[in-house]
Amino acid sequence: MHLLVLAGDGIGPEITAATLSVLRTASERFGLGLRIEEAPVGHAGLSAHGHTIHPDIVEKARKADGVVLGPTSTFEFKDPTKGEVNPSMMLRKSLDLFANIRPARTYAGFPLRCGEFDLVIARENTEGFYADRNMEAGSGEVLVTKDVAISLRRITRFCSERIARAAFELAVTRRKRVTIVHKANVLKVTDGLFIEVCREVARQFPAVAVDDVIVDAMMAHVVRNPQRFDVIVTTNMYGDILSDLTAELSGSLGLAASLNAGADHAMAQAAHGSAPDIAGKNAANPLSLILSGAMLLAWNGRRKNVSAFEMAAAAIEKAVETAIGAKKSTADIGGRLGTRETGEAVAALLRA
Ligand code: ATP
Repeated sequence: MHLLVLAGDGIGPEITAATLSVLRTASERFGLGLRIEEAPVGHAGLSAHGHTIHPDIVEKARKADGVVLGPTSTFEFKDPTKGEVNPSMMLRKSLDLFANIRPARTYAGFPLRCGEFDLVIARENTEGFYADRNMEAGSGEVLVTKDVAISLRRITRFCSERIARAAFELAVTRRKRVTIVHKANVLKVTDGLFIEVCREVARQFPAVAVDDVIVDAMMAHVVRNPQRFDVIVTTNMYGDILSDLTAELSGSLGLAASLNAGADHAMAQAAHGSAPDIAGKNAANPLSLILSGAMLLAWNGRRKNVSAFEMAAAAIEKAVETAIGAKKSTADIGGRLGTRETGEAVAALLRA
């Protein structure tokens, strides 16, 4: 498997190095033949070749079997004419990574905030309130006058249908429940279309129970009773916000794994940002990206029908579970280890 690894900014290089030590160990133990190629993105890309993500890197990503993207700065990249684009947006859009799968589950080993739970958010990743990706040309965000700004939200039948299908297919392999999260009481046309399409797809999965919850009420329901949820399907911005909450409820944003998947490509990416407040301190929790890497291996195994990849993914998840239980982890989840040592602990458990 040829992996393109892009370390990014802030805590990116630290959590990526820890993830690579785990992936290399998994490759040795399960005979995965991982071939790892690294390239600079974010600030490193700007210094190296004047682009936060050079077009050649997007082409490399297209040819690779999978991408691992560390978090990158976003606020600081403002002017595309100076090579400053959001690398995550560029890869999601160019590789058509329409499904952002964000699991959140609790682990034994540190105090539970809302009891045990295990859920997955299937977030639409290519349109919605993300003005930088929902237009064919130009931006969906416009400064009409210096005092008037407009942002356009695009919702299509096509994109709603494919994320709904991904959610229902996932639910079939789990507890067979899908919750549609929306704001159709206010956004009657756009979220109305989203619900309508999700319910059409639901009819093709009669074994899966379906309900829907308004996004603001969802914030209360998921804190009060996260056990109620299995797979949650939602549009881009709601999914982004909700998944930070579910990650933190599970213990820490540092556990927030995610896979961006399309029909032919996938990219492992932690759901959190570049955490500049803890960058360079060997303090960031690398488990978010390690678990994202495991999701990428499993995706590749399913796609190519090679069981060793799914076995490796399951072994990484088990090693993470054991490390957390034994407090071989970073401070955010009750351990005393640094980023590097947490990666080494997971790799050692994988070898055992
Ligand atoms: P950005 O500007 O890149 O979005 P941010 O700091 O605004 O960065 P996040 O990176 O998502 O947003 O961080 C939010 C909070 O969660 C910060 O306090 C950060 O330190 C913490 N955090 C994020 N990721 C981790 C991690 N892997 N381990 C520990 N804490 C984390």
